[in-house]
Amino acid sequence: MASTGKFSEEKKYDLIVVGGGAAGFFTAIRVGELRPGSRILILEKGGKVLQKVRISGGGRCNVTHACFEPKELVKNYPRGSRELLGPFHRFQPGDTIAWFENHGVELKIEPDGRMFPVTNDSATIVECLTQAARWAGVQVRTSCNVEQLQKEPDGTFTVTLTGGESFRSKTVMMAPGSSPRMWQLLREMGHSIVEPVPSLFTFNCRDARIAELPGVSVEKAALRIPGTGLSESGPLLITHWGLSGPAVLKLSAWGARKLHALNYRFDLLVNWTGVYNTEEVKEELASLRNGKGSRKVLQSPRFGLPSRLWRKLCPAAGIDEKKNWADLSKAQLNVLASQLSECRLPVTGKSTFKEEFVTAGGVALHEVDFRRFESKRIPGLFLAGEVLDIDAITGGFNFQAAWTGGWVAGEGVVKYLE
Ligand SMILES: Cc1cc2nc3c(=O)[nH]c(=O)nc-3n(C[C@H](O)[C@H](O)[C@H](O)COP(=O)(O)OP(=O)(O)OC[C@H]3O[C@@H](n4cnc5c(N)ncnc54)[C@H](O)[C@@H]3O)c2cc1C
Repeated sequence: MASTGKFSEEKKYDLIVVGGGAAGFFTAIRVGELRPGSRILILEKGGKVLQKVRISGGGRCNVTHACFEPKELVKNYPRGSRELLGPFHRFQPGDTIAWFENHGVELKIEPDGRMFPVTNDSATIVECLTQAARWAGVQVRTSCNVEQLQKEPDGTFTVTLTGGESFRSKTVMMAPGSSPRMWQLLREMGHSIVEPVPSLFTFNCRDARIAELPGVSVEKAALRIPGTGLSESGPLLITHWGLSGPAVLKLSAWGARKLHALNYRFDLLVNWTGVYNTEEVKEELASLRNGKGSRKVLQSPRFGLPSRLWRKLCPAAGIDEKKNWADLSKAQLNVLASQLSECRLPVTGKSTFKEEFVTAGGVALHEVDFRRFESKRIPGLFLAGEVLDIDAITGGFNFQAAWTGGWVAGEGVVKYLE
């Protein structure tokens, strides 16, 4: 066991942050700004810091979401909503906007509530955070893979890198994102880890009804996975490999565990009309048969459906090019109604959503004190960001959890040091 004596002054810190990502930087900056003169070190295993921020939001970085009421905000977190309520009362998207503004970066709101830097460039956020860290006196070292973490009898921590170099610190912020190695380390230190599974993914589906339609979207679809209790509604996008869009991404987040258990093979019921139930669809189709009898069915899409999709769903209901509305039997109308409102599509796997993907799972939340984002098992050890069993739907909420965690933990670190 290392003794305090073996560390020269330059290897001793007040705070060591494991991981140079969003949560790690925010913690380090907060501590540096609140407690000037603190010795703070960020250790990042990669060659560059903030790499996920750089690639996030398609290179634009969806920093946060314009949702300023904590009670509403937490509804976007399939895991962590209860735990984040208190912290969001202390640091929520309004505070994120103000923080970035105070550090020279203006954010803008898009119509769907997502917030980006006005530059539309994630590099703005990376530069802002690296400069703020410099001003706050934070040291940053890259290509430093933390391999071991040990709590010493005097309450301090020894942090050891691959290669053997080690440091001593009074506090440690664990912010390595979704890192199997670091979860293992935390498990060895007494923490429980909820099994990590992917969240925010798209559905693979090969089916004649959506083949050759990539790019076609439906503004208001309703999705349901029978037997799971999972359902979602919203815009749906047909892709080369299956289905994507906000409705699918939300379903993947809320159903992350259940869909993992199903090995991502299940039937998806799609109501393309979104708002009408099967009986209402039947009534509407029957009135068309009576009112527009001489018109070709394939040429008169209803319920706001894109005509290319309509022209796939009708043949799936046995209705060909020649059929007029008046030609349809009651049975055919019923089959068409079911294709429109209960279209059963076989999902056979998942694909990565490149704009944003996260991991559900991580350090069990009951082992963390969310007044400080501090481990209840190991005093002086703080945890924030994706290492925790917290994740959100897409839209800037995942970064918000990292900013909030880092900010609140920063205050916790300062209190601990006092
Ligand atoms: C492609 C993509 C796009 C995304 N876009 C968005 C978006 O626009 N908006 C949004 O809200 N969310 C987005 N997310 C999710 C968001 O990036 C994460 O929720 C967020 O980065 C989590 O922050 P973090 O600090 O916990 O982890 P990370 O950002 O992953 O940072 C952890 C850091 O720790 C380092 N590390 C790991 N292990 C060690 C070790 N042993 N020693 C030293 N360093 C280590 C890693 O290299 C990494 O740099 C996106 C995710 C992806 C993958």
